[in-house]
Amino acid sequence: MTVTRFAPSPNGPLHLGHAFSAIVAHDLAREARGRFLLRIEDIDGPRSRPEMADEFRRDLEWLGLEWEEVPAQSTRLTTYDAAARNLLERGLLYPCTCTRADIEALKPRLGSQGAVYPGTCKGSVVDLGKPAALRLDIDRAMAESGQLLWEDALAGQQVADPREGGDVVIVRKDAPASYHLAATLDDAADGVTLVTRGADLFDATHIHRLLQALLGLPVPRWHHHPLLLDQEGRKLAKRRGSPALADLRNAGEDGRAWAARLRRGEWPIGISLGKPHI
Ligand code: GLU
Ligand code: ZN
Repeated sequence: MTVTRFAPSPNGPLHLGHAFSAIVAHDLAREARGRFLLRIEDIDGPRSRPEMADEFRRDLEWLGLEWEEVPAQSTRLTTYDAAARNLLERGLLYPCTCTRADIEALKPRLGSQGAVYPGTCKGSVVDLGKPAALRLDIDRAMAESGQLLWEDALAGQQVADPREGGDVVIVRKDAPASYHLAATLDDAADGVTLVTRGADLFDATHIHRLLQALLGLPVPRWHHHPLLLDQEGRKLAKRRGSPALADLRNAGEDGRAWAARLRRGEWPIGISLGKPHI
């Protein structure tokens, strides 16, 4: 059975890019007579505004979608904690007390997901009085897992290349997990078989595939869909003027008609569809 999901973070309103993402995931499930899940990813610390989740549900209803909601991330913290402990006990994580400024000062290499941590704290004694994140020792993890493959519905088979992102954070200083750990564990717990999300997260999948191997989780397939882009070729963002779905909804716009146009690839003026793999 095909199980897809839409997993928004309640730290800003949904816009047309999110609508497109939700519709792609919804329709892939419906075409396969499968299930479409909604999961609220609300462990983003102070930026998370749980009340936004209600707006999200109204948005999806307005678009004419039907979904099953699974528990929000904030209810699953013990699962994240157990997995992080397991990795820590196996020597696959190490504490890192570096601040963003510390890392910037080292002029880090820029990977597709941002600055790549140069590994300063690895193997050194850190001051445990300071707040510490836990990072994945990518060399050790890769040595344990060996070569890994994964399959994208549009881009085909991929050889996992988690080294590109370096020693990523698995447990944040200010949160009980990172996006990588939480999303990977949740997709497994929710029985997701086709992880549907934007192409901007394509490279994150290399890390998720590695975490699945390390934690003995089932391996789904992925469908990274192209992103809706603005006139400058950047992904849509509310702060760059893309209307929030809630605004369109409150202005009396017809959500089902918007969904139908997005399905037909009729983008509003100034919006285009990007490449499947960026
Ligand atoms: N919560 C993430 C976001 O809103 C999406 C994560 C995912 O689909 O894997 O960007
Ligand atoms: Zn560090």
